[in-house]
Amino acid sequence: MTERTESESRKLLGRLRDTMAEEAAGQARLDKITHLTADSMGTEVCSVYLFRDAETLELCATQGLNPDAVHETRMKMGEGLVGRVARTGKIVNTADAPSEPGFRYMAETGEEIYSSFLGVPIQRLGEKLGVLVVQSKQARKFTEDELYALEVVAMVLAEMTELGVFVGEGAALSARHTQPALFRGGTGQEGTAMGRVWLHEPRVVVTNLVADDPVTELARLREAVDKLRVSVDEMLEGASGQGDSDQQDVLEAYRMFANSKGWMRRMEEDISRGLSAEAAVEKEQSQARARMSQVSDAYLRERLHDLDDLSNRLLRILTGQGSQTGSEMPDDPILVARNIGPGELLEYGRKLKGVVLEEGSVGSHAAIVARAWAIPLIIHAERITNEALNGDHIMLDGDQGIVHLRPDDSVVTAFRDKIAMEAKAQERYASIRDTDCVAPDGTRVHLLMNAGLMADLPSLDSSGAEGVGLFRTELQFLIRNHLPGRTELANLYARVLDAAHGKRVVFRTLDIGSDKVLPYMKPQDEPNPALGWRAIRVGLDKPGVLRMQLQALLRAANGRPLSVMFPFVAQYDEFRDARAEMDKAIAREKRLGHPVPDDIDIGAMLETPSLAFASQRFFDEVGFVSIGGNDLKQFFFAADRENERVRRRYDTLNSSFLSLLEQIVDRCRGSQTRLSFCGEDAGRPIEAACMAAIGIDRLSMRPASIGPVKSLIMRTNLTELRQVIHDARDRGEQSVRPAVMAYLADNGWALGRS
Ligand code: PEP
Ligand code: MG
Repeated sequence: MTERTESESRKLLGRLRDTMAEEAAGQARLDKITHLTADSMGTEVCSVYLFRDAETLELCATQGLNPDAVHETRMKMGEGLVGRVARTGKIVNTADAPSEPGFRYMAETGEEIYSSFLGVPIQRLGEKLGVLVVQSKQARKFTEDELYALEVVAMVLAEMTELGVFVGEGAALSARHTQPALFRGGTGQEGTAMGRVWLHEPRVVVTNLVADDPVTELARLREAVDKLRVSVDEMLEGASGQGDSDQQDVLEAYRMFANSKGWMRRMEEDISRGLSAEAAVEKEQSQARARMSQVSDAYLRERLHDLDDLSNRLLRILTGQGSQTGSEMPDDPILVARNIGPGELLEYGRKLKGVVLEEGSVGSHAAIVARAWAIPLIIHAERITNEALNGDHIMLDGDQGIVHLRPDDSVVTAFRDKIAMEAKAQERYASIRDTDCVAPDGTRVHLLMNAGLMADLPSLDSSGAEGVGLFRTELQFLIRNHLPGRTELANLYARVLDAAHGKRVVFRTLDIGSDKVLPYMKPQDEPNPALGWRAIRVGLDKPGVLRMQLQALLRAANGRPLSVMFPFVAQYDEFRDARAEMDKAIAREKRLGHPVPDDIDIGAMLETPSLAFASQRFFDEVGFVSIGGNDLKQFFFAADRENERVRRRYDTLNSSFLSLLEQIVDRCRGSQTRLSFCGEDAGRPIEAACMAAIGIDRLSMRPASIGPVKSLIMRTNLTELRQVIHDARDRGEQSVRPAVMAYLADNGWALGRS
């Protein structure tokens, strides 16, 4: 058998390109491609199978098999050798197909007479589109060169499928990116939104896949790679100038890839076989994406992502398509991205109606920003960046974690109803906005809001919050790429106090560590960061930043009342030492002649069960206690709040957890210490009502929750609810939720009617 030469491959690609240039229907083009490929490869059979739905492949064109089988023969993923290629994404190359495991005889195609089988996946950027097969009677294994040639054809087919070249009749030949698609992800932030897709990183569109002149293409590739290397070097210089070691690590990886000989060699080979420089880059990118979906090691996946990002940069250089591809942001943009940092998200500003991420986590900084903006955020919407196009109609159901892309009319109607119901509820909330939250039994509950960004402050008026119960100061540190200075912080805190118009703002000192890593601080390599060196532990061990922050707060207050609390206090002496830092800061300010507030309220967050058992001294000395329910719950049940698998396992209304909360209520009452709750559960109406019922009368939550929580509490007799909780617990029920739900239902409350 003769070796296949590069010029043969080039000739084949040239003919494929001519086929594409001719005016013809999608089916005719596919037929011609199978014909040309079989001819060039010297095989009796060449067939193209494309997916008609996520699980089913369909024979869409063939040279050599029975033509009547086209669009009739179908197989499930994993079924037969073709299905095996589709499922595994791996090539099958065999001289004796019938004796291969999984071989399936398909009478309608007359397949049994072909002994050799070579099948390669047709995939684009990691997405499986179909399978390309050649078969011959002669029992032989295909050579590396033949295999390579078929892979290149498969890649061209994939690109052309994406461009809509084969659109024809039937599901398998339907145009891509036009069908409705549903993605099930996770809830990062509840709420509903409807709008148009805005891709954070729009796809580069490659239209010239095949090139006649490899010399020119090679020169284009090399020139583009040179430019890429220079730009990576420049970025690296910039990062090292800023002492940004994290970013430096990523860029070092970029540089390694940009200089990788293997990467370059493979792309050069592709070009010498007839691909354009862009197509060669995309082929490599596609393969990296396919590997990405198979790698479970988080570090390796990140490196493959780096290679992916680098390929995108290279494609932009080659095609001249900047990150701005000329399209205009729609009026109702819903951001779709693989992942996004808080800084990038903030750059978009409040015009975004929602965010969908392929990755992300509930506790990510992006989630915190989305929550502050009260826009729905859906995380883990796998593969959505492959499917969505700029401008596509999209609807987010943040409550269920569902994304409807290009929804059909019935979904749109149902969704509109849901939005209308929500709008009605909003009207109801607005009507009680300025009313005090008093339950029918006379219990007064104070509803406060959580904040962390300047942008949150307008919600203080619009939500009817009585103050800010938790101002997460770390957000200001997270969105910068440098450590903010004292004056910068003092100005910022002063603006926060100005915007609060005399309502109380409880500033929580810096809570970093665990998942909150400052980009400009050396990350600690800890085996268990959530149990590690975080929050007040860092503040006391390295007091420089804490001192600076306390001074900034005092300066910002400029004599006005000030409330400060320390995060993650686990035992008395941590509070004592932190408060001593405040005393020192006050003394220093006085010495310098600056005004200090007469009214300074200093509290501690109760986020570890240990503090509930602290000595009486702690409760006597602390100004107020705020329960950080997110952390407290994770430590009480030993269940990581970031781990979706275990997080939902334990109910906040679990009897034991409520007993702990009641014990904290009792201890605070005993020493007349003010108590509040500021974890996410405070914003869930049923949980909030239960907490109020057991005596936690200050609840701090995201602003959008204030209306629903107030609405429920104002209709619930908390004394009766408390009895319901106690009775359920006395009956030995693990969670009081069923009893609470039954009581609320008996009293006219229905789910969705908060
Ligand atoms: C908490 O732990 O409940 C809390 C309010 O703090 P954070 O979510 O910022 O850790
Ligand atoms: Mg916490």
